[in-house]
Amino acid sequence: MDFRSDTLTQPTQAMRQAMAQAPVGDDVFSEDPTVRALEDKGAELLGHEAALFCVSGSMANMLGLWLNVDYGTEVLCDQKAHIVRAEMGAHAALHGIQTKSWTTDDGVSTLEDIEPLVSLTGGFLVRTSTVEIENTMNFASGAIQPLENYTQIAKYCQDNDLRLHLDGARLANACVATQTSLADYGKQASTVSLCLSKGLGAPVGTLLASTKANIDQARVQRKRLGGGWRQAGILAAAGIYALDHHIKRLAEDHEGASLFADQVRVAAPWAVTESIPTNIVVIQTGSLDADQVILDVAQQGVKLTKLGPHIVRAVSYLGVSREQCIEGGKVTASVLGQANPR
Ligand SMILES: *Cc1c(COP(=O)(O)O)cnc(C)c1O
Repeated sequence: MDFRSDTLTQPTQAMRQAMAQAPVGDDVFSEDPTVRALEDKGAELLGHEAALFCVSGSMANMLGLWLNVDYGTEVLCDQKAHIVRAEMGAHAALHGIQTKSWTTDDGVSTLEDIEPLVSLTGGFLVRTSTVEIENTMNFASGAIQPLENYTQIAKYCQDNDLRLHLDGARLANACVATQTSLADYGKQASTVSLCLSKGLGAPVGTLLASTKANIDQARVQRKRLGGGWRQAGILAAAGIYALDHHIKRLAEDHEGASLFADQVRVAAPWAVTESIPTNIVVIQTGSLDADQVILDVAQQGVKLTKLGPHIVRAVSYLGVSREQCIEGGKVTASVLGQANPR
């Protein structure tokens, strides 16, 4: 029972069939029909003119920020954002991009969090050029940015000539949970990403959507980063299959995560939030070390990941059943039952 990440999904038989049958060509020559089909489909779903099929979510974020953040300006984001915590410093290391962060308790960002940090005029302060929002919020229990808050932020950006990058690695999870469309969020951003390799279940790949002019530039920069690929239609076919067949079923993952958390709550009500918004359960380990909890549950066949010295994470996805989510929660509860809140 491996709950470490929704990136652990294995392509299904039907997805493998689609991959095997995909017509392919050299994508650096723009001659892969399946990659083109995926990019067209992704652009439409995300509410933009064009899209680019990227190797990873990190690469899509790199290209999105590179397009938006003017040289020597800053991008604002939540301090728990994936772009600052989990992308190996890429934006600073490769593109010289500086971040400045606000803090949230629950991962839900509002305009009130952001506005005080914005420096519009520059002068002797670093000028803000871009705001970054992550939906859902990986390191905050898969929190959803409600469309209303997000729309307010997007409007503020537009009114003040700021760009908005939406890290939509798990945007489909947010949309399924709130019965909104990918375009409801996507079209309001200057650039938006969507991971195909998380809960959507494709083996590789992330889409970046924006204007055609932006995507043309991103395509060049992707090649510069070593991300130009050849007969990638094999992978794009998996992405198309994922978009066609694996969006609605994310609701099952959300249910699984809730069932997992329900079990934990029985033994350690302080360890998890009151409700689980999507497919990620962030678990406080209280007086126990996260490393110890991970070892103890592993002895009983359950794999979790560490997020901090006293925080672990369980994620539900295509590869774990409802029953396994309940069982995984029970095992975790049996270990946390010996802990005290910190
Ligand atoms: C997974 C993830 C990414 C991208 O990750 P890759 O491993 O580079 O594909 C970006 N943002 C968020 C919020 C993520 O969870």
